[in-house]
Amino acid sequence: MEPAPDPGPSASDLAAALRGVPDADLALLVKALAGSERAATAALLAHLGELDARELHLRAGFGSLFTYCLEALRLSEGDAFNRIEVARAARRFPAILALLEEGALNLVTVRLLARYLTAENHLEVLGAARGKRRAQVEEIVARLFPVPDVPLSLRKLPPPRPGPNGVAPPPDPAVTFSRPLGASSPGGRPPASVVPLSPERYRLQVTIGGETLERLRLARDLLRHVIPSGDDAAVLDRALVSLLADLARKKFAATDNPRPGRGTAEGSRHVAAEVRRAVFLRDLGRCAFVAPDGRRCGERAFLEFHHLRPWAEGGAATAENIQLRCRRHNAHEARVHQGPRGPLAGRAALADAEGT
Ligand SMILES: [Zn+2]
Repeated sequence: MEPAPDPGPSASDLAAALRGVPDADLALLVKALAGSERAATAALLAHLGELDARELHLRAGFGSLFTYCLEALRLSEGDAFNRIEVARAARRFPAILALLEEGALNLVTVRLLARYLTAENHLEVLGAARGKRRAQVEEIVARLFPVPDVPLSLRKLPPPRPGPNGVAPPPDPAVTFSRPLGASSPGGRPPASVVPLSPERYRLQVTIGGETLERLRLARDLLRHVIPSGDDAAVLDRALVSLLADLARKKFAATDNPRPGRGTAEGSRHVAAEVRRAVFLRDLGRCAFVAPDGRRCGERAFLEFHHLRPWAEGGAATAENIQLRCRRHNAHEARVHQGPRGPLAGRAALADAEGT
């Protein structure tokens, strides 16, 4: 249950008081509350659809409406998924809201139908689903919108897990970072576990092979002059910084302009590879959009290079003027800046940089 915003009797007080309510009254109360819940849900969906259209969740630093529903509204994944699908459908076809409030349809049955609804068919299709359960609505969908039979397909199954003497990976001595010469773990390697200890401090526990351990020891030795303590955390940080610089160099080399200097020349829209690398590493490969309340988006998928001062207004293609944005936030900022029909000036997708 979501916490009620209005101060009333606490849930535990209410439960105690209800023990004295007669059966017939209790049944009526439950029905009335289910009706209020449907009305509240329909109202929530209408508001959520409007919030979505105004992109308020993007402005607040959330990378998607789904993330917003989970984190700001504290919905479960399933609840969020259903509400978003239905809110968007109800924005196109407001008749859905009345049917939900009435109880003729529920979130699941509307969600099943949403992708098939058109301006022409929605009243008829929604009407056919009135009062139906999920399985019945699935039958309606199959009848009204049939799809071809699924062709016979063969799928290779993953190989069985190797036993203690399996072929791969070969058993070898293992250690953990927390215990430099700890006990070995038999069989396959579990993924690293990360446990937050205090703000900005984490315990990383990972099983490594004997060769990796030797590489770690060698790195420790070679870094002795800068890290006299031989601290594994400091060695690991250096290793990752170096690895990421190497990976970023490869990732942003494809479209690097062979003529030096042109990339950052004044008036050029081209974002030079070294600028892309610097921005990507500085923003740690995540959307750097920050909402007025300080929330950073942090999406990792579909990143683009965003000019803080637009290129069309003389914004330079320098690391200072460029930040990573997820596709939604880059488009959102372009719309806010230029209006809904303006060209998305200043966009440079990461995919472009990769030459794909
Ligand atoms: Zn974002």
